Amino acid sequence: MSAATRISPPAPIPLICANWKMNLSASEAEPYAAALRARLGDRSADLNKAFEVAIAPAHPVLDRLGRALEGSGIALAAQNLHAEESGAFTGEVSLRMLEDLGCHFALIGHSERRQIFGETDAQIAEKAARLAGSAVKPILCVGETLEEREQKRTLEVVERQLGSVLDQVDGLEGAMVVAYEPVWAIGTGRTATPELAQEVHAALRAMLETRWGTVGTQTRILYGGSVKPSNARELLSQPDINGALVGGASLDPEAFAETALACLN
Ligand code: PEP
Repeated sequence: MSAATRISPPAPIPLICANWKMNLSASEAEPYAAALRARLGDRSADLNKAFEVAIAPAHPVLDRLGRALEGSGIALAAQNLHAEESGAFTGEVSLRMLEDLGCHFALIGHSERRQIFGETDAQIAEKAARLAGSAVKPILCVGETLEEREQKRTLEVVERQLGSVLDQVDGLEGAMVVAYEPVWAIGTGRTATPELAQEVHAALRAMLETRWGTVGTQTRILYGGSVKPSNARELLSQPDINGALVGGASLDPEAFAETALACLN
C-alpha cells in the first residue's frame, strides 16, 4: 500500500478526568454531579463518541458520587490504590474494593503521591501490575520537577517513569492511559505552553508506539497542570494531547464542564 493510501488508525477519544484530591465530601458530590450532568447533558460515552469524562474523588466519596452519576456516562476514577490484593494495610484501598464500586480508572503515580508520600517507580509499577487485566484502567501520571526541567532532564525523567511500568508490567496494552503532568505546573497557575507540552507528549507517544505499535498510537496521553476553560482548547488541539487531568478547575462543575466541552472544538 502506498503512503498516500495508508489508512491511519482513528484518533483516540479524548478523556477529561477531574482530580478532586482531598476536596469535596460525599454530600458536596451530589449537587456537583447534578450540576455537571445538567451542563453536559448526560452524554454517555456509548451514545456520544466525542469525548469521555471521569471524576476521581477521595475514596470515601466514590460510592455516593457513583450513585449520583448513574446513567450519565461519566466514569468513576480512584485517586490511588494499594498494590496488594488484601491484607493488613491499615488505611489502604484494594483493587477489589474499587471494582466493587464500579470504578473505571485509577490514578497511579500522581506527583503528590511520588513527592509527599515517597512512592517510587517500583511501587507504581506494582500498582500497575495489580490493575493489568482488571476492569479498572490505570492512568499513569508522569512529570518532571522544575529543577529537572531547568537541568534539561524532562525527557529523561518522563521516559524513566513510563519505561519502568512498560518494562515491568505486561497486559496494559490498550488499557493504560498516560498523563503528563509537569510538577511545576500543578496547582501553581503555570501551564506548559501547548508546544512545550506537545514536545513531551510526542516523546511519550514514540515510546508507546515502539512498544505497542498501533495501540501506542491510540493510547490516550492526557495533559495536566493548571488546565482550565481558558487554556483547554489550545492544549487539546495539539496532535498528541488526548485529554486532560484537571485538578483545581475541576472543583467547580461549571468550570470542569467548560474544560471538557473544549474537546468539541
Ligand atoms: C493534578 O494535580 O492532577 C492537577 C492537574 O492539578 P491542577 O489542575 O490544579 O494543576
